[in-house]
Amino acid sequence: MRHLALSLLLFVGLAHADYYAERRAALMEELVYYAQLARDSGDGAFSDAVMATMATVERHEFVPSSEKRLAYENRPLPIGHGQTISQPYIVALMTDLIEPDAGDIVLEIGTGSAYQAAILAELVEHVYTIEIVAPLFQSASERLKRLGYDNVTTRLGDGYFGWEKHAPFDAIVVTAAASHVPPPLINQLRPGGRMVIPVGGRFMTQQLLLIEKTEQDEIITKQIAAVRFVPLTGEH
Ligand code: SAH
Repeated sequence: MRHLALSLLLFVGLAHADYYAERRAALMEELVYYAQLARDSGDGAFSDAVMATMATVERHEFVPSSEKRLAYENRPLPIGHGQTISQPYIVALMTDLIEPDAGDIVLEIGTGSAYQAAILAELVEHVYTIEIVAPLFQSASERLKRLGYDNVTTRLGDGYFGWEKHAPFDAIVVTAAASHVPPPLINQLRPGGRMVIPVGGRFMTQQLLLIEKTEQDEIITKQIAAVRFVPLTGEH
């Protein structure tokens, strides 16, 4: 009887793994299609490395149990405390825009579920990520540890001010909408570095900006897409 129960459990476990793998494969097809559409409008497709990472990281590990069956839908999902895990397409887009390199040190603002941090961690050397909501910081830190991401360092605080101690960063990814580009983040970007950030009002769509700092310290800003993010909060 015990054996039967055990093999049943194993079977259910495997069936779940298969289910998620299948759903993830379907999502990948959708991302290819979306990227193709974007390419037609001149935005460019995602790199192979970004696509491979999106195909590997298990998004269902980053959402609450109640949302797991929707984990591979191409949409944002609630993660508690009024916050959301971003839509997979937007995660792929933001990751692709910073052109991640294996040796890069990246700063992320808005850890949330830690999904974006995990995607980055697969592609770069180290990720520093800041979250302002204590319980989310706590659960994201535990999750990253459980999943073995030892190249991600988390911190509780207001990401508006960046993380001076570890600056300059090769890239900065801001995953909450700011009313303006925080000057401390511009300062903490290395010459030649890239930042992606949604900028705009709280109750309207925002513009996803790609900000490049040239080797001569010039700032070049490009508007990439209309997006909708939760607001960057804090007392700054
Ligand atoms: N990158 C996350 C997306 C989370 S949504 C993911 O992959 O799941 C944006 C997150 O930014 C929320 O968790 C929110 O609490 C956090 N946030 C908002 N304002 C912030 C600030 N000033 N500093 C740091 N985090 C902030």
